Amino acid sequence: MPGYTLDIESVTHRYGDFHAVNDVSLSVEAGEIIALLGPSGCGKTTLLRIIAGFVSQSLGSVMVGGRAIDNLRPNQRNIGIVFQNYALFPHLTVAQNVAYGLDAKGGSRAKVKERVRECLDIVQLPHIADRYPKQLSGGQQQRVALARAIAIEPHILLLDEPFSALDKNLRLDMQIEIKRLQRELGLTAILVTHDQEEAMSVADRIAVMNQGRIEQVGTPSTIYDDPQTLFVNNFIGTTNLIKGNVIAASPELLEVELDAGVRLELPAMNGLATGQRVTVSVRPEQLALSPQPGDASWPVKLGLHMPIGPTVIHQAWTQDGVELKITVARSENQSDIDTALPHWCGLRPEVSLKIFPID
Ligand code: ATP
Repeated sequence: MPGYTLDIESVTHRYGDFHAVNDVSLSVEAGEIIALLGPSGCGKTTLLRIIAGFVSQSLGSVMVGGRAIDNLRPNQRNIGIVFQNYALFPHLTVAQNVAYGLDAKGGSRAKVKERVRECLDIVQLPHIADRYPKQLSGGQQQRVALARAIAIEPHILLLDEPFSALDKNLRLDMQIEIKRLQRELGLTAILVTHDQEEAMSVADRIAVMNQGRIEQVGTPSTIYDDPQTLFVNNFIGTTNLIKGNVIAASPELLEVELDAGVRLELPAMNGLATGQRVTVSVRPEQLALSPQPGDASWPVKLGLHMPIGPTVIHQAWTQDGVELKITVARSENQSDIDTALPHWCGLRPEVSLKIFPID
């Protein structure tokens, strides 16, 4: 299957004076799945609705396979959509629901029936064609919604928070299922989510949105390891934001003194001069805990600790009251450390930290 590209070109949407989507450009390759990730109200759904044709953008253009679709009605765009609440018609059987878009396209009865059977096979629900939505579990309903979306052989698949009504285990199953299908069918897809883990596990690339704009587009690992803005850094994963001052800046090296009193030597960064106040982002897994002081470590008082899968997250406070989260692998055998005793916290070797200037 050849697959279609999707290009969003300088799209802006205003509700009155308010820019819900502000000059967004994004290119999705054929067969690629991109997650639109961002906090509530950042414009994800509006952008999705513009692509689907339910909202007419104030400015800019949407192209599928290199052709503008701005003047096409939603049902002319050949876009499959899966919504959060499944949006199945309760009075229609599963087969009738899946056939809905096909009937609207006007295929022969035999062909429609054959395609419905094929799609129910694809989502691994071949035996429920005659049931009604209320006779299905949430996961089954979502599979039927997926079958309905792919039945029309869409050029683009839009997934609007499709997993959020499912419980955690089912959600993981559906995430794997959707990724498998999307790959197998070579579909170009956009997944809207505010769940960063979901975006990281399902998408080839992530577009992080904030206040109507895209702040960064990149692979999940680029977004996690090399966030370009403090917002992206904060939104993806957990991090400790520690303030400090640049005390020396040469073309090779940057020296930062953290407010906690520790000096860090870091690779030079453009635009940071001596005296600049900065925020240093340190991921919990970049910190280490020790019962003894060491080079460049600072004393901390430990609080709660939470075992999460193979790791333990420790809560700690520096002497000037900055709260830190520190991740320790259980295999490091530190889950039973005595939290009543003083500890020291330092950077693990060779971690690369992100620094952001404070205006
Ligand atoms: P959520 O994750 O909560 O669904 P979102 O990122 O999808 O959020 P949108 O639904 O796209 O955000 O909304 C973006 C902004 O536009 C919000 O501030 C919202 O209040 C506003 N907005 C959305 N629809 C309308 C409308 N019909 N009229 C006026 N403002 C709107």
